[in-house]
Amino acid sequence: MSNEETINTLEKAHLDFISTVSHELRTPLTSIRGFADTLLSSYDRLTPEQRNKFLHIIKDQSNRLINLVENLLTVSKMQSNKDLMVYKMTDVVPFVDSSIQMVKNQYKTHKYIFNYEKNLPKILIDTDKFQQIMLNLIDNASKYSHDGSTVTVNIGQNFKNNTLNISVKDEGIGINQEDIKKIFNKFSRIDSPLTRKIQGNGLGLYITKTLTEKMNGKIDVKSSDKGSEFTVTFNAANPDDDAIKKIKE
Ligand code: ADP
Repeated sequence: MSNEETINTLEKAHLDFISTVSHELRTPLTSIRGFADTLLSSYDRLTPEQRNKFLHIIKDQSNRLINLVENLLTVSKMQSNKDLMVYKMTDVVPFVDSSIQMVKNQYKTHKYIFNYEKNLPKILIDTDKFQQIMLNLIDNASKYSHDGSTVTVNIGQNFKNNTLNISVKDEGIGINQEDIKKIFNKFSRIDSPLTRKIQGNGLGLYITKTLTEKMNGKIDVKSSDKGSEFTVTFNAANPDDDAIKKIKE
């Protein structure tokens, strides 16, 4: 590709990005302004239930905007070289456990099962980034499944490959094979009547995959109409090993 073609492609990607972000910002902002206008102009004519409903919509849409802006900041940090990783040999169990507890608070009817083997090795990770990965996967498993269903998180060691495998399994709506290829792309959401009802901006799995790979890990997904299972795999080698030395540099 010539220099000029490269610049054109970059410019197009940049413009597409701005257009997607603007659209993502406009939808909740329009809704917030609309409901705020109605509350201001017709407050006395609305029933207390209507006022309450409109205020809840304003709050939900504001949360949607906050999530979007936080995800955009993460993406921009990841893409610049300012996102320094702080590696530490870590026992991941407490981090997975606290991620489950945080998500659990928002999904009162879901059940959460956490299985892990005894004497798991510590692994070299950035704990904040690791927690972000876990929160994204457990939150997705919860929001793309029905009330009352079970989310199961497993941590196991693969001695043959010397890896630690953490999987998050749900009984939710599933992802068809064609769509699996797209879900890790920026702003990619599966367009179906079920996903349309669920709030999201399509950045979570892009961030999850990028952070996992930055820590030399990998992410896999299996899915059927009975649910999905996302697995992240990290090196469980001794820090003296070459692979770990590489990640530390
Ligand atoms: P978001 O959830 O904000 O839309 P993500 O990047 O986390 O964005 O996920 C991308 C898309 O992948 C989602 O919109 C959804 O269609 C699909 N998806 C992700 N996780 C699951 C899951 N556990 N079950 C079913 N679909 C999922």
